[in-house]
Amino acid sequence: MNSLSVLPFEFVITYIFIIGLCIGSFLNVVILRGLSGESIVFERSKCPKCNNKLKWYMNIPVVSYIFLKGKCAFCSAKISIQYPIVEFVSACFFVLTYVFFGLSIKTLFLWVILSLFIVLSVTDIKETVIIDYHAYLLAFTGLIYNFFGCGDTTIIQSILGAVFGFLFFEILARAGKFFCNHRMFGEGDSLIALGLGSIFGIKVLVLIIVLSILLQGVFALPVLIKKSFDENKKKLAISYILVFASMVYVILQNCFTFIKNQIFYLISITFICILLFWSLRNILFEIKNKKESKDSKYLLMPFGPALIIASSACIFYLPKIKELIYIFLS
Ligand SMILES: [Zn+2]
Repeated sequence: MNSLSVLPFEFVITYIFIIGLCIGSFLNVVILRGLSGESIVFERSKCPKCNNKLKWYMNIPVVSYIFLKGKCAFCSAKISIQYPIVEFVSACFFVLTYVFFGLSIKTLFLWVILSLFIVLSVTDIKETVIIDYHAYLLAFTGLIYNFFGCGDTTIIQSILGAVFGFLFFEILARAGKFFCNHRMFGEGDSLIALGLGSIFGIKVLVLIIVLSILLQGVFALPVLIKKSFDENKKKLAISYILVFASMVYVILQNCFTFIKNQIFYLISITFICILLFWSLRNILFEIKNKKESKDSKYLLMPFGPALIIASSACIFYLPKIKELIYIFLS
């Protein structure tokens, strides 16, 4: 495939893993500076607490974190677990891309795209913020990626995907604002969808949206259920449980096809639809009531990370995911 293949596979993998760790370390800086609004300058990093400049051996990705037991060597302030996680995930992504696509232009593009994925999801999880230029950079990379034929879609599909992705989330968000005075999605989600559309094209983007809704259900609903019980909002908790149960039901029903009887199937689907309608009404009512309160944000779980996890999965396992979604929707 290329000249690297004469080197032992383990050697190449280790080398790429180390490069991935270093890039991850750089991404931590991009995330930090993006959130604080500072520009990225290449100076020695320092402890945010005591401002001591770190020695080189305190700045080795993952390794230093483990040896320092997650504490600053000078002032023992806790170092966020975000740093080693970002470094490790980057390294895994870099290796995985190489294993799947070899050393190619496509791999180089995917390294950039996956790095931006990491930056976007961490800022979203950490402060529910998407930095505009991170998302624009993603959209721009996607366009060039497909323009040079490295992606799996045409440039036309790519442009359509970007426009569709942005409009889809923007219209839904504004509809939410119109009907219950509350954006259904953050502004960041429209921007992420803009970038994802340009990378994957419109067809795969639709698949990604479906998959991310499933993921969001799996991860966010249990949190929302617990929260509603803690706040003694039984009706709301039951609504979330019903939405969750319906999802599980549809998945099980399709995986095992245990319902053979058509009439029974129709009745159960109708029943589920009524329950879902009741649940959504409760949830929308809750959102509407929350509009005045300051902590209304908790109802808006960031949707960005689900979109990005779904997209990362689609980069490597698109055929399997198509099968899964087909089973779910059939
Ligand atoms: Zn310190």
